[in-house]
Amino acid sequence: MQLTEAPVEERTYSFWEQVNRMFDRAAAHTKHPKGLLDQIKACNSVYRMEFPVKRDDGSIEVVRAYRAEHSHHKLPTKGGIRYAPNVTEDEVMALAALMTYKCAIVDVPFGGAKGGVKIDRRQYSEAELERITRRYTYELLKKNFIGPGVDVPAPDYGTGPREMAWILDTYNSFSSNPLEALACVTGKPVGQGGVRGRKEATGRGVFFGVREACSVEEDMKALGLQPGLGGKTVVVQGLGNVGYHAAKFLQEGGAVLVGLAEIEGAIYNPDGLDLEAVMEHRRRTGSILNFPGAKNLERSQDALELPCDILVPAALENQITVENAPHIQARIIAEAANGPVTIEAEEILLKKGVLIIPDVYLNAGGVTVSYFEWLRNLYHVRFGRLSKRFEERTFSRILEVIEDLTGKKVPVELIQEVAHGADEEDLVNSGLEETMINAYQEILTIRREHGVDLRTAAFIDAINKVAQSYLELGIFP
Ligand code: NAD
Repeated sequence: MQLTEAPVEERTYSFWEQVNRMFDRAAAHTKHPKGLLDQIKACNSVYRMEFPVKRDDGSIEVVRAYRAEHSHHKLPTKGGIRYAPNVTEDEVMALAALMTYKCAIVDVPFGGAKGGVKIDRRQYSEAELERITRRYTYELLKKNFIGPGVDVPAPDYGTGPREMAWILDTYNSFSSNPLEALACVTGKPVGQGGVRGRKEATGRGVFFGVREACSVEEDMKALGLQPGLGGKTVVVQGLGNVGYHAAKFLQEGGAVLVGLAEIEGAIYNPDGLDLEAVMEHRRRTGSILNFPGAKNLERSQDALELPCDILVPAALENQITVENAPHIQARIIAEAANGPVTIEAEEILLKKGVLIIPDVYLNAGGVTVSYFEWLRNLYHVRFGRLSKRFEERTFSRILEVIEDLTGKKVPVELIQEVAHGADEEDLVNSGLEETMINAYQEILTIRREHGVDLRTAAFIDAINKVAQSYLELGIFP
């Protein structure tokens, strides 16, 4: 019997296989030897654990969890921890691989990692979640899968600053190096060594990336759109940390939110939706549905097919598949979530001329600012603390000299605007903006050189950087 490969539409690939197919597609445009490419692609270590958790009613439940460290070419490894019922080994490996490529693309000196705890967090009380988080951290500690120079977790789907603080406290309880312990996890509350701007960072990065893409005149012309973000219509799926902040900054940047989707359903108003009013409505009623002036879409998934310029999937992977890709009307897909477009769906969308801004670049704002937080923790000083007042005085002095030389008074509003020393948030946001702009320009150059799509260009960039690292270091022993 002759075995033939199933046609693309008929075979479904796992998330890990999909990431590797993206890798292979890009690797074909590089000249690295096969062995080196195999090593870059491989997932170096995966720790699968099962541990008992005592529920509030006294019963015992076994929880399954994972931590994957994809690449040790740079240390520490870095990546979020996800709490979701559908977490699998395949998924954490795929997400860890994306972290390696993401860090390389935005020049963050870490290898990629990812953790996952297979629970539906809504089924657990806060006390239970704390016990799960602490036990998970302890399991990581026992196997040397966490530490400031080893592997540094961060928030992801279903986790946030609260869980990061529990991780820090648990790590601290066992650490013999309290001076560095603060850097064992990022995305912490600001009072616990977190950096200002981290919570918003991924969404803000999405905004910078979309703005950058929309500023490329030739691309906008090819899409039949005007350059710039102003007036572009946007649909966002998922109003969690990433989706909410992406929507907020896109709206502040002049885009019009016409559709919003959450787990309970979606709403649509072609004239625009006020994000804060929708969030307030959800807090009050428990749902985004029945928002005044908006049309309800009972099937949340239908929001992906709404007419708009920019679609921002910001929930989970595998949202745009061969089934719905032909019906997508957006001209730009901004992948705020990891892996929201399957590789098969991507083929269909690229043929339709859709511009896909890939996850591996677009949501890298989180790890970029996590890197800043890690640095801040090792420095033990808030960014801007040493320079803020000095800058303010220097700028004020320059304005005084201008007044002396011209004999004219500088208006008070201008003094307030100009004579401002950068505080931590200013510096973090500025570093993030610089990173997202530079990385986009690098990818754009590679895309033009190789005549490929943006995702392939981003992967070529990542492969070249990781390969260079291996070539410089050599292979041990
Ligand atoms: P989150 O838990 O804060 O929010 C996710 C939101 O999506 C929730 O509000 C949830 O109700 C909603 N949701 C889930 N399924 C949905 C569906 N089918 N339709 C509509 N809404 C749905 O998670 P997050 O941190 O915002 O992460 C979202 C995505 O962004 C994930 O893919 C994650 O890996 C990626 N990401 C997150 C970060 C970060 O810093 N948090 C960084 C990079 C990438």
